[in-house]
Parts: sequence; C-alpha cells; structure tokens
Amino acid sequence: MAVVSDFHLNGKRSVTVFVTLDVEDPRLALLQKLLVAYKVDWLDQRWDEYTDEEYDAAPLIVMQALADNHVIGGPRFYTEYDLSNACPACGAGMRQTGVYMLDGAGPSMVGLGQYRAVSSYSEIIVDPPLAEALARAHLTGLSLRSVHAYQPNEALIELIWKQMWASHTLPPLSPRSTGIDFESACKTCKRGKIDTTSPERFVYRARDLEGAKDVNRMWEHFGYVRWNGDLKTAVLWQPYFVVTPKVWRIFKDAGVTGFQWLPIRVVED
Ligand SMILES: [Zn+2]
Repeated sequence: MAVVSDFHLNGKRSVTVFVTLDVEDPRLALLQKLLVAYKVDWLDQRWDEYTDEEYDAAPLIVMQALADNHVIGGPRFYTEYDLSNACPACGAGMRQTGVYMLDGAGPSMVGLGQYRAVSSYSEIIVDPPLAEALARAHLTGLSLRSVHAYQPNEALIELIWKQMWASHTLPPLSPRSTGIDFESACKTCKRGKIDTTSPERFVYRARDLEGAKDVNRMWEHFGYVRWNGDLKTAVLWQPYFVVTPKVWRIFKDAGVTGFQWLPIRVVED
C-alpha cells in the first residue's frame, strides 16, 4: 500500500510517500536498493500485527495511544501531583493526587466528541458508555475518576468522561525487550525519558507478572519530558497501561479506535 502527499512549503516542493510492505515481501529489498541508488531520505518503521486469537491468548497487552486522539491536559492545567517520590531529573514517579484537568480552552478538546476514548500524555479518558462497560466488567486494579476542564477565569467544569486509574504498577521490563532504547533512559532513575525504535516488543519475566491485575501501569515512562521542578511548565508522559485481553475486548466491542495494542512476551528469567 502506498500513500502520497505532495505539497509546497516556502516555495519548495515536498513529496512524502508512505509505503507499507510485509517484512517478507521481496519488493522491500528492491525498494531499499532504489532509495539508496536515488539518494532518497527514508525512515524504516516496523511493527507486528496480531490476530484476535493472539490478543485473546495474550497474558497482558500494552495499550499505546496514537497521536490523533491526544487531548492536552495535566500539570500545566492545575492537576495536582505528589512529588515526594518523583525523580528530580525527569519527574518519573510523581503521583497524581487531584482530579485530572484538561485544557478546556484549547482546540484538542474536540477529541472528546470524536472518539470513544482519548489519551492525554498516556492518561486514558473514556466516554460514559465505555466507562459503564468497564465498571460492569468488575476489572481488577481499575477505578474510574472524574475529569475536569480548566479554562482561565472560569469555574471548573466537571466532564461526563472518566479517567482510567490503575492501582498496580508492574515491575521493570525485562532487558530482553526489543525496540526499547534503555541507554536513553534518565541517568538518575533509569525510569523516565526512554526512547523507542521499532518494532517494539515488551518482554516481562514470568515472576514479575505475579499479582498483575486486569489493568496495570508500566514502571517505565517513555517519550518526551519537560521537567525543571515546576509543574506549571511540565510536560510529563505517564507509563503505558498494560491490560488483560478482557479489557482489549471491551474496547474492541465498543468500536474504539486510536490505540495500538501490543501483546507482551514472557520469559522465565
Ligand atoms: Zn529520572
């Protein structure tokens, strides 16, 4: 499959072509040869695709939000956090203590009307019917919390959407995970600011999964961080949710889009 975008920016023509091929497809090597021959810049992104049977059989599944359903919120909008266990260098380990606040004045709020579930720096916010379906399933480790919209000089508005909240944090990933650049992790805590490459494969040791709930959070924090100790300017991505197939099934049956689901792999040591 190929998608082409062709536009002019500052008088310069820019053509971007997205080509999706199976890794076993002989045309992949041919394409790479042509890119080298014609000196074209390219980015190679790889991912695994899974069947419903594989999801149903997975011990746990990492839930990653895609960019399109992102809603701005968090510390810059007066969400309160306990910083007593936060890493001074990257903020990882801070704990949300107050109601999650979204940027009620910003354009990203429209996502709440367009998606069944949105993400906000790896927090997940679900619409009322999805919140009810999750509550009815009596999932372990999950609670649902209120979400407010913050607008300068206006009273706070309590929204009908709910924030997913997990009480359990899994132990660190196995170093056998791939596509995860442990070298990039925060030097102080080893927990934050971790970069990923592709394909991402999250591996856990079997013994570390004892006590896992239906809904858990990862120990690691991935991605961009802006942290100088001041919550008013902070951008802090929270750890991914890691859930059982039961939770995947509820999201799937609700027709939720905008998330990538990656079954974990388990090793003995
Ligand atoms: Zn850190």
